[in-house]
Amino acid sequence: MKSILQGKKSGRCYICEHWRGDDSMKRDLEEHHIFYGPNRCLSERYGLKVMLCRYHHQGDIHGAHDAIHNNPDKTNDIRLKQIGQQAWERKYARAEAGTEEAHQEFRRIFGKNYM
Ligand SMILES: [Zn+2]
Ligand SMILES: [Zn+2]
Repeated sequence: MKSILQGKKSGRCYICEHWRGDDSMKRDLEEHHIFYGPNRCLSERYGLKVMLCRYHHQGDIHGAHDAIHNNPDKTNDIRLKQIGQQAWERKYARAEAGTEEAHQEFRRIFGKNYM
């Protein structure tokens, strides 16, 4: 399923655009599954994916402090997972998004509540 967070044709890095105020087009975009590892297939099923520039995805240019992967600091990873959970609740939860009931629906599927 295509991303419910970002149009694939936008050509922009989600982090650069939304958190760094940089809406320039990037040539080195990579697709990131917000819930990766064992939950990667759930990200695919629900469209919880964003495009990231290679730096914000793999952090391989000047160190990894701002990247999602290869980074001991999980701040950005968790922040993106919270955005993913909010988007999932708005689109798929039976309960009203943001409520404890919606968080529990999310947790039953993804195994964890990030809110
Ligand atoms: Zn970026
Ligand atoms: Zn990734």
